[in-house]
Amino acid sequence: MTLLMDTPPGENGLVVQRCGLWGYNAIGVVSGDEAIAVDPGITPEEIASLRGTLEAGGARRVTHVVITHSHHDHIRGWNAFPGAEIVAPSTVAAKPEKSRARILAGKAKIDERMGVVDDSFTYPTMDRTFDEACLLKVGELEVELRSLPGHSDCTSIAIVPELKALLSADYLVSPGLPYCRWEAAPFERANEVMKDLIVEYDVELVVPAHNDLIDTQGAALTAIEEELSYFQFLRKEVERQRIKGLATDRVLRACAISMGERRGVDLGPKARQDADNARRVLKELEGR
Ligand SMILES: [Zn+2]
Repeated sequence: MTLLMDTPPGENGLVVQRCGLWGYNAIGVVSGDEAIAVDPGITPEEIASLRGTLEAGGARRVTHVVITHSHHDHIRGWNAFPGAEIVAPSTVAAKPEKSRARILAGKAKIDERMGVVDDSFTYPTMDRTFDEACLLKVGELEVELRSLPGHSDCTSIAIVPELKALLSADYLVSPGLPYCRWEAAPFERANEVMKDLIVEYDVELVVPAHNDLIDTQGAALTAIEEELSYFQFLRKEVERQRIKGLATDRVLRACAISMGERRGVDLGPKARQDADNARRVLKELEGR
């Protein structure tokens, strides 16, 4: 694990720790003698390491753990910060037993692959939930949590106005290859909302939960345009392939090939997401 960003005790800033899997970024917001953890990490070691950095040898205490959404890489470590309040969208708390079991099974599978033993892990129990938005205080800083479904039906993001920073969860994790795990239209809407927020809050830094940080406003807006234009193109492509009367899997494959050609870069197995995005668009078309 590598620290991409650190802030010394007493100062206002972010802590970003890169984990070993999926370019995952465990994030902290720190100010004065307080800190909050956002999606705290993958392995117990990584989570403990983030905690160590946030606590800065006892100079700070972690007051909140924010869970942006219920995917299993984001809920890990929710209970690793004694005394912290657990905060998440109400949709995370509302996940039915069946979904929870699926999420925990997904986590167990990855744990096994990594040789991580974490059998006592349970689905998070929230101390505070929110429908639309929630305001947290961290030292001198305010952190605004906003519900923003699209990547999943329970996704939220965080804005730290003073730092001109947006923590985008699983949005903008690989601009040009949207990581939609729920529905296409809300995913696009979420990107439109983020565009407005970036302008409104004069955001200069976007920290996605995976991969590279986006460190200018221009780059952030460009990244959002890439996501939106991707879906615009994909919608047309799905329509075009669909009227040929092919079987669904062939429609999806043809769309994935077109999206790969449009990109002009071979992303390897990651490009499987193209077919998955096409499937979500197709489902939407057939549902209307
Ligand atoms: Zn996710």
